Amino acid sequence: MNILFSQRSSRWDSLLFPIEDNRFELTLQFRVRLIRIEPTSHFMDPGTYMNGDGFLRYLDGHRTIKLESWADLEWETYKRDFKSVIERNWGDRFVLIPNKPWYTPRAGSAPIPAPIKCSIAIQVVDFADQNPHFKFRCIHFHPDIQQSNFQSYASWYYGLGIITHEDLQFYWRLKATKVGKQQHQVEFGQILVLHEFGHILGFDHVNGESNEDWAYGVTVDQKADTMGIGYHFANRHAEPWERTLKRHLVRENRYDNTVKFIGQTNGPQIIPYWDNNWEFTPTPSASGSNQPVPIDDAVRGPAGVIWGHMANRPITE
Ligand SMILES: [Zn+2]
Repeated sequence: MNILFSQRSSRWDSLLFPIEDNRFELTLQFRVRLIRIEPTSHFMDPGTYMNGDGFLRYLDGHRTIKLESWADLEWETYKRDFKSVIERNWGDRFVLIPNKPWYTPRAGSAPIPAPIKCSIAIQVVDFADQNPHFKFRCIHFHPDIQQSNFQSYASWYYGLGIITHEDLQFYWRLKATKVGKQQHQVEFGQILVLHEFGHILGFDHVNGESNEDWAYGVTVDQKADTMGIGYHFANRHAEPWERTLKRHLVRENRYDNTVKFIGQTNGPQIIPYWDNNWEFTPTPSASGSNQPVPIDDAVRGPAGVIWGHMANRPITE
């Protein structure tokens, strides 16, 4: 097996490097241009436009969004946070596991089944001539408007998206969701920019390629997905790294051709949703105990909420 360390493409660049004797790291590298949109900005995109009068308008004429200016310091912080939120949440989330030994650390040593850590590196750029892979227009909407009036989006096809000053924060959304035969009021936690970045990585919505409500998920599990309205990452989200790895490996013989890598999540994943109509049903434990889970066993979620009645609590030890 020969390894190409560095690769370029129009979607993202990538680096494959040994990080220890027995482990590799595959980093997807993005240059993302963040465009500061002010009330005076002008642009024309495939769904929205601005003509400098303080409003972002939808081409279909249905909605206008009143904007306000970014403060200079707020904008600089936003650009920094954009990088760290994406790198921390999409990066180091998955690992590619080989089905057999494929890497020889040094001449004469036996080949080993080295796993590959999946990372992301974001370089925020300000100008078009820095060859960004993707660009986001960043709006700061006026406090008068309801956030629900505007829907952030990202189009893999156009290499373009629009996000808001609130999209780097964790927030909760209440959605009536069918659980069994009943309708439950379920709150889903999400950091929206992670969903939009999922589109840049090539993912559609969890339940299909559409912007209709059903595409964001019907069941609790679908909605809880990061490509629904939640924060859950699944094994299938390692696919961009699986695909990118193929560009780095030069297979030289029949054995090399039988080496396969499967992406999986790197450790337990938090599932931040809260079912307001959840009822505790005791299940017999290994010791035969039927006691409800004591409150001390509750788990703290990412927003500081105690997950007392979460059906599928994350493993904490
Ligand atoms: Zn989306």
